[in-house]
Amino acid sequence: MSSRRDGDEARGSGGTVVSGEPAALREERRDGVTWLETGGDGWRAAFSTRLGGVSNAPFRSLNLSLAVGDHLADVLENRRRLAAGLGYRAPWLVVAEQVHGVRVRRVGPHERGAGAGDQSEALPATDGLWTTEPCLPLSVSVADCVPVVLSARGTEERRAVATLHAGWRGMIAGILGQGVRLVGGVGPVTTAVIGPSIGPCCFAVGEEVGERFEALWPGSYRDGRVDLWQAAARQLEAAGVDAARIRRSGLCTVCDQRFFSHRREHGRTGRQMAVAWLEPGGLSDCGDGGGTGPREHRTPLGDRDRSRKEAGAP
Ligand SMILES: [Zn+2]
Repeated sequence: MSSRRDGDEARGSGGTVVSGEPAALREERRDGVTWLETGGDGWRAAFSTRLGGVSNAPFRSLNLSLAVGDHLADVLENRRRLAAGLGYRAPWLVVAEQVHGVRVRRVGPHERGAGAGDQSEALPATDGLWTTEPCLPLSVSVADCVPVVLSARGTEERRAVATLHAGWRGMIAGILGQGVRLVGGVGPVTTAVIGPSIGPCCFAVGEEVGERFEALWPGSYRDGRVDLWQAAARQLEAAGVDAARIRRSGLCTVCDQRFFSHRREHGRTGRQMAVAWLEPGGLSDCGDGGGTGPREHRTPLGDRDRSRKEAGAP
């Protein structure tokens, strides 16, 4: 694909393999913006770090959330930088409100850009997004909770991607199984990625929470700590995902200073995002030079126009 080749040239120092099974999550970098990227035939996904943005402490620097008290213009610039690096249109990003629930919502062209520039337009009471629409970048914001990306593929090239927000509450409530069931309507899950999040090294919990995990996924609670990655993998498998299709980043957001960590920063910090989207067929990509789909009521603004407008707002 032309987009992939162009991206690789621009990234220069990118391409470091940081983890992977069965295919790698690659560390990529462009103009200081750093993320982990994966993908397959017809879909791509990325997990951002906190590196390469413009936000100041405690959001330094690539905070991508409009819900944590950071400056609007800074967050929009950060979102623009990540989108530019990855090759999708920042104003088309779809953002969910995230309430630690299990609602996974199907989104289409009508939701394009929901929450991209205004948190009050994020899809309400939603913790998971899925789509069959190309060039519709779905997001989940996290800073220790587990971001999970699913890709599914059915017959006749039908595809779907999903982004899911799984904190311990959502995990227990079954959001990952719910996501697998929904994309399963398109076809089997070809890849499930468990992104950077609080690891078994750091997720100390109270006994009550630990016992609930142990009851659902024996072995996931040990020495006062819960292994969310194991719980996630087992929930995905129970919902029908082939174990060989599950990739774990293996990166703990508390231990690894490249990431925002709610626990390490005592609740005052930014959010990284997992973003996933389907690529259009042919030689086009989802950047400003390409993209498909009807333009609905949300007129895609040029990124620069939007930033300038927001920067002037109170
Ligand atoms: Zn850790």
